Amino acid sequence: MVDEGAIIGQRDEPDLPRYAGIATFALLPGIEDVEHADLAVVGIPFDSGTSFRPGARFGPAHIREHSRQLHPYHQFHDTFPFRNRQVVDAGDFGVGPYDIERAVETIHARAARLVAGGTRILALGGDHTIALPLLRAAAEAHGPLAVLHFDAHLDTWDVLHGASIWHGSPFRRAAQEGLLDLEHCQHVGIRGGIYDPSELDDDRRLGFAMIRSEAFQERSMEDIADQVLERLGSGPVYVSIDIDVLDPSQAPGTGTPEVAGITTRELFAVLRRLRGLDIVGGDVVEVAPAYDHAGVTGLAAAHTAWEVLTLMGLAQR
Ligand code: MN
Ligand code: MN
Repeated sequence: MVDEGAIIGQRDEPDLPRYAGIATFALLPGIEDVEHADLAVVGIPFDSGTSFRPGARFGPAHIREHSRQLHPYHQFHDTFPFRNRQVVDAGDFGVGPYDIERAVETIHARAARLVAGGTRILALGGDHTIALPLLRAAAEAHGPLAVLHFDAHLDTWDVLHGASIWHGSPFRRAAQEGLLDLEHCQHVGIRGGIYDPSELDDDRRLGFAMIRSEAFQERSMEDIADQVLERLGSGPVYVSIDIDVLDPSQAPGTGTPEVAGITTRELFAVLRRLRGLDIVGGDVVEVAPAYDHAGVTGLAAAHTAWEVLTLMGLAQR
């Protein structure tokens, strides 16, 4: 961690309003502006793993644009998330759209370089395929990871249309590669369609416990958060948030929307109770701006990323 006095926070020019100028995430400095970054927000504009509506490649820019209103002080946690360590926007990883395997290798290499330098990554997707190379980089540094996965979908599926790596398979591949701590992974918000109940058995075998979307009607947020904390344990955690965990009324701008999802208020109520987790990396994925309305999804994703980033800081402090 850098000396407190040396930390560069959000842009602060008196005559430049928040809506003006080029948007980095939360108007944070670029990685080139600092000597060391404790945490880097990284855009990964890749959506060639998408199975239904494409467009998440435009997610990072959309999320950044809607992150302008993220302020320095977090009221709930009583903390300044950009003051206690150096947080930066590291720009986008450059990945072409035509070759999934090559893109995954590139993302892995770029992420591994940051992680080796002591920088934790919060990625803005992009489709959920990008979680696989990010999990590889994080597991290389920290060992097998407890994954906290918010999503309408399992994402532990196998081959689709001949592809073994796509946005519905990252957690199957990660489990098979030994990147996951199979006793400590947790899905939250699941509800999407499946082909056969055997997929649920598969999913359990790959290390995931499940809290379905319906639980949010039946149980308190505190109860749900307690179960998540108990499941995740005390080891390194990777938080992966597919924006389609939210109801389409709260996040229409996504590639595979599913009805009867949770609200941003419910998502935040659970996230905010997860203080103390050792979050070593994370992502917010599947934001597809072409289907968004009035920036609803962009705003939800930007603020969700801020919640995760703040939690990461509470543990890193
Ligand atoms: Mn999903
Ligand atoms: Mn997903």
